[in-house]
Amino acid sequence: MIGVIADPSEHDVVREFFELFKTPWEFYRRDRRYEVLLCAGGDQVDGAAKFVLFYSGRKIRFDDEQKIQTGTGRREICILSYQGNRIPIYGDTVTFPEMGKGVLMDEHTHESAAYLDRSGQRVVARIGYDLFGEVRKLLTVGQPPANADIPALELHIAFLRDLITGCGVPLVEVPPVPDGYPFIACLTHDVDNPSICQHKWDHTMFGFLYRAVFGSLDNLLRGRIVVRSLLTNWAAALKLPFVHMGLAKDFWRGFDDRYLELEKGLSSTFFVIPFKNDPGKNFYGPAPRFRAARYDAQDIADTIRKIMAAGCEVGLHGIDAWHDSSSGHEELEEIRRLTGVAEVGVRMHWLRYNHQSPVALEQADAAYDSTIGYNETVGYRAGTTQAYKPLQATRLLELPLHAMDTALFYPAYLRLSPRQATTVLGQLSDDAVQFGGCLTINWHDRSLAPERLWDACYRDLVQDWKSRGAWFATAGQAISWFKKRRSVVFETNSIEPDAVRARVSADDGSHLPGLRLRIHKVRESCGIGTQGLEGYVDIVFDDSIDTRVPCGDWC
Ligand SMILES: [Zn+2]
Repeated sequence: MIGVIADPSEHDVVREFFELFKTPWEFYRRDRRYEVLLCAGGDQVDGAAKFVLFYSGRKIRFDDEQKIQTGTGRREICILSYQGNRIPIYGDTVTFPEMGKGVLMDEHTHESAAYLDRSGQRVVARIGYDLFGEVRKLLTVGQPPANADIPALELHIAFLRDLITGCGVPLVEVPPVPDGYPFIACLTHDVDNPSICQHKWDHTMFGFLYRAVFGSLDNLLRGRIVVRSLLTNWAAALKLPFVHMGLAKDFWRGFDDRYLELEKGLSSTFFVIPFKNDPGKNFYGPAPRFRAARYDAQDIADTIRKIMAAGCEVGLHGIDAWHDSSSGHEELEEIRRLTGVAEVGVRMHWLRYNHQSPVALEQADAAYDSTIGYNETVGYRAGTTQAYKPLQATRLLELPLHAMDTALFYPAYLRLSPRQATTVLGQLSDDAVQFGGCLTINWHDRSLAPERLWDACYRDLVQDWKSRGAWFATAGQAISWFKKRRSVVFETNSIEPDAVRARVSADDGSHLPGLRLRIHKVRESCGIGTQGLEGYVDIVFDDSIDTRVPCGDWC
């Protein structure tokens, strides 16, 4: 059991952190003994514990007591290196220049940002940043695009876990890994342009023509596409007037067939725009006219039925739901009317979102949100692969979005070749195998058709996730699985201090993959970062499990 001492203003973020690092913990109580005491809000250390951790990015009383010299990084973002990983720190940091090379090093100054002190039976770890301040930043502001590739929140969890197990303290947790699978794969599609017929002499049509004719030629010369793709796109551009006259097939239509064929029963999620010709609001006033869709969800009612009959989910691609709950309510209601499903999730068009959005979406009665990601790059805006509850929300969960096709390929963004994109997506998949959680990807409705023709990369990704054994879930299923995990409560009793019961307290997740109770093995010597895959055992459970965790003399 971890006892946590933190400022009351930090209690919300502490609670959320321990939903993501799902292990027995509680706020510190004087009448209890703890194996681990995590002090984040001051210098209190009167509680007895085998292992005490001080997290703070400023000099604290403990440093003075230990007569430890401290240094401070004055840079905007400090990067700490830990076992070959880079952990960005967005708040204050303090270093310990006299402590030599440590487990956690400031990448710039090469000074140690953590050290261990052993006196008698007690081990104290001093870590030179504010853990919960960092988690708050990640879950609210998010990471700048330059650090998008770093799953920072998962690394904070991994570092803390390594510290605890490395100091010989036993640990149980429910990892974000469904039973039978290494991670969750969530395939999603924003439906922006289901038909090119609807675009006459507008921004989208001219964009299509420019990219089909000139962009394709440029891509060919740069070796990004083959001649066949160039010819397909030129043919599509030539055909366009005939498509508008109704004499040739609309090559953007049929996105449902293309995805259903490629995904073959893998259950993806389609986010559909409710109303046409409404650009909605942008951050600072009305959005440009071209943000408006040219279709009503009603226009593709047959497609929606077909998608759902194939086991896929239909959610709302919201226009104004991100800032206005009554608009959000109307938008959600239209999708409910067409799908007959009460629980409808949201992804905002153009990923519009601000600090009020979790509240607006919750008031509009959205089932979940999946907007937090980048338009311009791919990776971990909130630093995590896990669904989390935004700190402003009371029940809404956020399923972070990790990669969009447009970010990978558009010249204004990453401008990758298909092969480079596959490599980048492979790195995300490697992370998911290491940390668990859910990878969420957005391939737009028109992306398999001219002029994008981004099907090869998508096919490779789906194949890669299949071969890694991922659980393909709709966004709603992934959220339900995370809810089931969040509902786990740990029960201990004073008569048998080594007995731990983990119990699922929500009862609607029985059709979902089970959970794992992970028991980390105790290590004799104090060492950090030597945790290998063999360092734990997993026990599978569906509703409750009892186990014993050897806890030494401290219970
Ligand atoms: Zn969109």
